[in-house]
Amino acid sequence: MIYDDSSERASGAFSLIPKSGGRGETTLQRLCERRGQVVIIDAHSHILSLAADPGFTVDYGREGSLCIYRSMGKLPSHRMPTEAEWEASGLARRGWPLIGPAESLNDHPGFDKIVVLAVSPQHLDGHLIGTVDTDGILGVEGPPDPEKCNDYIAAVVRTDPEHFIGFASVNPAFKGPAAAVAELERAICGLGLTGLKLYPMYQHWAANDRDLAFPIYRKATELGIPVMIHQAGSTRIDAQLELGRPALLDDIGREFRDLTVIIAHCGLPWVDEALFLLTKHPHFYAELSYLIATLTRRDLFLFLHRCEPAFVPLEKIFFGTDYPGFLYDPVKLRDKLTTVNEEAAAVSLPPSRSTNCRTSWAATSPPSWASLTPSPPPNPRRTH
Ligand SMILES: [Zn+2]
Repeated sequence: MIYDDSSERASGAFSLIPKSGGRGETTLQRLCERRGQVVIIDAHSHILSLAADPGFTVDYGREGSLCIYRSMGKLPSHRMPTEAEWEASGLARRGWPLIGPAESLNDHPGFDKIVVLAVSPQHLDGHLIGTVDTDGILGVEGPPDPEKCNDYIAAVVRTDPEHFIGFASVNPAFKGPAAAVAELERAICGLGLTGLKLYPMYQHWAANDRDLAFPIYRKATELGIPVMIHQAGSTRIDAQLELGRPALLDDIGREFRDLTVIIAHCGLPWVDEALFLLTKHPHFYAELSYLIATLTRRDLFLFLHRCEPAFVPLEKIFFGTDYPGFLYDPVKLRDKLTTVNEEAAAVSLPPSRSTNCRTSWAATSPPSWASLTPSPPPNPRRTH
């Protein structure tokens, strides 16, 4: 997401960091106080490794990238690639470096903030996966273990709290909703993380499950944190597509009216469904990662151009990359967005309908899309 505090609509009204947050809040506020300056935030990124088993991490990456490589003509489409073809495509078994804080910062030049999202422990194809520090670079004690995903993310934030914003993750289907709620409270109040990421379709539970999921939303509301939900498609074969429908989030908006919900990937492939939820629910937002990688710059322009006529304020849509995934180069994606108005003349459309968005999209003036979330009310428990 990109925050331009020259916009009256955004000024002071949005903050990634809860009011009672730590050093990050100070930084963001200071940045926003520089009138006319822009805070550029990647609202969706990952870090470290996804499995303690490096071999499975490679297989996971290959499964998710297969369709992309095939569509680029780098892998055969009519059969599964041989090991030699995988190697030739660039998806070798070697060369999957651990993405640590230094690598993330290095690949985000010019970004002010990077949201790093934990992946909670879950079984995929019988393997236990989740965010792990396989190389022990962060000093979290013990062997690599996805059950420490939130400890790893907190350790990442500690390396550079000026830049990293850490979102916890919990899986209510792993050890039950009570354990998930307890872990969420520990991650926010104990570890200092400032948001929550959920992965229902990967973990085979429904986002609107009253028994499994609602206790988590209740706790998140109490903690005053935003909840980002992967409510979109996935190329992971084991992910359950029907559980990715954005419409499942409607029950959350109806029940938890003060909870900030961020729909990951703009709900792709159900983008219109996700956009309508943004129209319906005052505290629903979406972020562009994955979707933005699939769109040409012109299609991105046309997509953005239809949001406001469809009653979706652009302040509700954040910039995100899904780094370090393939095709998710933060600089390229950011530039695609910040230069999007260069497409206006070619399609005989004005840069934007509204004054706000005209400012946002003009090549000479960076986007004024809002930052992540409305500031939650002060949370005294955070200081404990
Ligand atoms: Zn992601």
